[in-house]
Amino acid sequence: MASIEMKNIVKKYGDGFPAVNDISLDIADGEFMILVGPSGCGKSTLLRMIVGLEDITSGDMIIGGERVNDKAPRDRNLSMVFQNYALYPHMSVYENIAFPLRLAKTPDDKVDRLVKEAADVLELHEHLERKPANLSGGQRQRVAMGRAIVRQAEAFLFDEPLSNLDAKLRGQMRTEIARLQRRLGITTVYVTHDQTEAMTLGDRVCVLRKGSIQQVASPRELYEQP
Ligand code: ADP
Ligand code: ADP
Repeated sequence: MASIEMKNIVKKYGDGFPAVNDISLDIADGEFMILVGPSGCGKSTLLRMIVGLEDITSGDMIIGGERVNDKAPRDRNLSMVFQNYALYPHMSVYENIAFPLRLAKTPDDKVDRLVKEAADVLELHEHLERKPANLSGGQRQRVAMGRAIVRQAEAFLFDEPLSNLDAKLRGQMRTEIARLQRRLGITTVYVTHDQTEAMTLGDRVCVLRKGSIQQVASPRELYEQP
């Protein structure tokens, strides 16, 4: 796990107004930070700069105390949880969770131990032999998070993971994500434009507007504002 520190981060695409305009934000180790704001305010750009999918025009990105501006995404050891969970349909839950360990040529006995530990935390142990198609949305989300846990990622990054779901499932998943994040205590950055998600999920909410931070506050502080 790791803190994420952004110091005077600027992102310009071409020579227009910066998509991200001098953002400084410290996310503590284990904290759940929400990035919220209208479409085009720079949320995705900021998230992609944390992951390393987008170059930083100026400023410093520091993860776990280390400057990562020039580090490739695969060397940052962060886990992006995608909207569709990106599970492999032909593989069992066990093999889906084990996948990053297989890539890293981890010995079988260690794979087995790590997958079963993750399955215990995520309450998936009864489903390890099933295929993703036979799971509920919430269980699929847990498999995706299991894959991130076995990699022992420094942080989870979510980019509007619930925006394609219907209202009922969205509500369930919200609860699920909040519960898991607290249980794992893993640093999390979560992008959304949904007010309910912003007010219920995180420890703090960072409100962006036109590439700048308008406010950083706890959900309670935001709620109590006139
Ligand atoms: P959000 O995620 O809050 O909707 P984005 O980070 O996607 O905002 O976009 C911020 C601004 O940067 C917008 O004005 C958008 O049009 C612009 N932008 C995003 N990606 C690119 C790109 N690849 N090239 C040029 N402009 C971009
Ligand atoms: P999102 O809001 O989820 O980032 P968008 O539809 O805004 O989705 O962007 C989809 C893709 O198009 C992204 O890869 C983004 O970088 C790119 N993009 C967004 N705005 C622009 C833009 N003004 N010029 C070029 N590419 C852009």
